[in-house]
Amino acid sequence: MAVRYYALERPGRIGTLELPHRILMGSMHLNLEGNSQNLSRLAAFYRERAEGGAALIITGGVAVVAAGGSANMFVLTETSDVAALAELAAAVHEVGGKIALQLFHSGRYARRDEVGETPVAPSAVPSRLTGEIPREMTIADIHETVDAFARGAEKAKSAGFDAVEVMGSEGYLLNEFLSPITNRRLDTYGGSVNERMRISLEVVSAIRSRVGGDYPVIFRMSGCDCMPDSTTQAETLEFAKSLEEAGVDALNVGIGWHESRVPTVQQVVPRGAFASIARCIRQNVHIPVIGANRINVPELADELIAGGYLDFIAPARPWLADGHFARKALAGDRAGLNVCIACNQACLDNTLVRPYRPVSCLVNPRAGVEQMRPITKVPVARRVAVVGAGPAGLQAAVTAAQRGHEVVLFEELPEVGGQFRMAARIPGKAEFYETIGYFEEQLRRLQVEVRLRTRPKAAELATFDDVILAQGVKPHMPQIPGISMDCVVTYPQILRGEVQPGTDIVIVGAGGIGCDVATYLAHSWRLKPEASAFFRQQHVPEPAILGRNITVLSRSERYGKGIGGSSRWVVKQEMKRLGVEVKLNFAIESIAQDRVTGHMDGQRVEIPADQVVICTGQDGCDTLSNKLEGQTQVHVVGGARESTGINAARAMREAFEVAYSL
Ligand code: SF4
Repeated sequence: MAVRYYALERPGRIGTLELPHRILMGSMHLNLEGNSQNLSRLAAFYRERAEGGAALIITGGVAVVAAGGSANMFVLTETSDVAALAELAAAVHEVGGKIALQLFHSGRYARRDEVGETPVAPSAVPSRLTGEIPREMTIADIHETVDAFARGAEKAKSAGFDAVEVMGSEGYLLNEFLSPITNRRLDTYGGSVNERMRISLEVVSAIRSRVGGDYPVIFRMSGCDCMPDSTTQAETLEFAKSLEEAGVDALNVGIGWHESRVPTVQQVVPRGAFASIARCIRQNVHIPVIGANRINVPELADELIAGGYLDFIAPARPWLADGHFARKALAGDRAGLNVCIACNQACLDNTLVRPYRPVSCLVNPRAGVEQMRPITKVPVARRVAVVGAGPAGLQAAVTAAQRGHEVVLFEELPEVGGQFRMAARIPGKAEFYETIGYFEEQLRRLQVEVRLRTRPKAAELATFDDVILAQGVKPHMPQIPGISMDCVVTYPQILRGEVQPGTDIVIVGAGGIGCDVATYLAHSWRLKPEASAFFRQQHVPEPAILGRNITVLSRSERYGKGIGGSSRWVVKQEMKRLGVEVKLNFAIESIAQDRVTGHMDGQRVEIPADQVVICTGQDGCDTLSNKLEGQTQVHVVGGARESTGINAARAMREAFEVAYSL
C-alpha cells in the first residue's frame, strides 16, 4: 500500500537553488574517483541516483589541493580532474538532476604515502586515525588554503556544478581548526572560538567573492565532534550563526570524528539519534539545516522534517542500498525500498582496507557497477532453480527474476532469510529484518515461486536449465574431547532459540559470530533499555537479576577477526561494557559437563561452564552438485562454494554475479 510523506514532498530551496523535495544525496567517497578509467562508471552511478529522484547530489570530497586529498580522489588543481568532474555534472544534468561539488581538505587525516608529503594541520597534534604527526601550517599556508577553497569553488561553478559544499566536519582540516584539541595555535587562527573559526569564515567569504552572492554554498559543519574536550555546544552554535552571517546558504550537520570512540554510523546507533543536534542548530539560524546520520527510512525522515528537526535530509549510504531512494519514498513505495542496514560491510569497510576497494553495498551488489550491470532483460528466459533462501539464495533468485528468468526458490526451513534471520536477533542488528522484508517483497513482485520446507531431489533440479546452489554453511565442529556432550551447543541453536542458554557459558571461537553470540547472550539476560527507562520514569525499582558469566575463548592474541574495521571496535567496546570476558591465546584441551579446560600463557586453566557454544568457523553445505554433474548447468555460490573467510557481502556479490550472467 502506498504511503504519503507530505513533509518530504514539500519543495525547498538552498539559496537560489530551487529543489523539488527534501531528499538530497549526501557526499560519499566511492574509491572510483581520481582515475579517468572509472569516469564512465562513476557517471553511471551518479546518473542512476539522479534518475532515482535525488533533489541534489553532493559528490564525494574533491581535494582543493593535492596535499589535502587521499588516494583515489579528484584534485581541483588538476585540469584533467576538473574536466572529468564537468563530465559527471553533465551526466547528472542530462537526466534532469542537480549536483553540488564538495570542497575537501583532509588536514591531518591525510596520509603521507598517499599525498606525497607530510600532512598539514593547525597544530602538530598526532592523528589517532592515521598515526601521522602533521606539520603545523604557517600563516602563508593558511592564506593559500583559503584561496584554494575559493579557486576550487570557482572551478566547480565553471564546470557546471549547481552548488558547492565546504567540508568542515568529521575531523577534517576546517574542523581541526575549530577544535581546541587539534588547534593549539597562539596566533590569530587559534585561541578563542572566534579565532578558531576564522579560517572557515575566511573560506566562506573568499568563496563568495569568487562565485558571487547568488551561487549556492553549503557548509558541512560538525554538530558534535564526539571527542572529549573538543568544541563545546555553545561554540558550535556560535559557529553556525557566524557561518550564516558570512553568507552560507545552508548548514549540513555532520556528527563525530573518525577518531571518535562514539559510534555514529554503525547499526548500534538508533535511527535518527543525532537529529536533535541538528535541531538545536536549526533553532539558532535562519538558513536550511541538513542532516543525515542513521536516517535510513522515509518515515523517519518525514517525521524529522515535519517536526522541525531538519529542512532536508542528505543520507549517503541509503543511496547505495537503493539508487532510487527518493523516487520510491515519494511514490510511497516503502515496501519496495531496499533499506541501508548500517552494516558497513561493503561500503565503509572497503575504504578501511589496503589496497582500497571500490565501495558497493551488501544488500545491493549492483551499487558501483551500474554501468557494467544495467537492469535489462535477457533475450531468452531460462528456468532457474535456486536452492537455499539465505542471503546468497535470495540475491540470486531476485537478480535472476529481474533479468526475466523463470525462478523457483527452494528452502528447507519454514521461512526465508537464513543467516540474516539469526543476525537480526543480535542486539543492535534488527535492521537485518528490513533486508529480509525487502527480498520477500521482491520475490512476490517478481513472481518467484518459493517452496519452503522443501529439499529438492536432484532429479527434479535436473529439469531446470540452471541450478544455483546457495545452501550456505553449517557450524564447523572441531575435534575436542567432550564435544559431543549435552552441554555443547552450536550458535544456530542459541540464536534460533532452540536451546535454553546456560548461566556459565563458554564460547569457543572469537570471530565475528563468537562475539555476536556473546553480545546476544549478555544482552538477552538484561532488562531492555525501554523497560529500564519506563521503570525509572515510574519509580519502580529495577529487579536485581543475577548475571550470566560469559567467557569467549580465542586461540590467537586477537578477537573479533572477520568483523569489518568500522564495526570491530564498537563490538569490542560493547562486549566490555556488558562484562564479557575474553581469554586470548587459549588452547582448549577438553570439555566436561561443568568446565572447559585448556592452556593459556603456559598455565593450565579451568573455566566453570554449564554450557559451551561452538563458534569455530563454518563448513560449506553443498549436498547436490555431485548428484547434478552433467545433468544441468550448476553454479555453487557463497559459503557453499567456499566457506573460508565467507561473509554476507561476498556471498551476495557472488550470487548477484552468477544470476546476472545467466
Ligand atoms: Fe548500508 Fe551496509 Fe549497504 Fe553500506 S553495505 S550501504 S551500510 S547496507
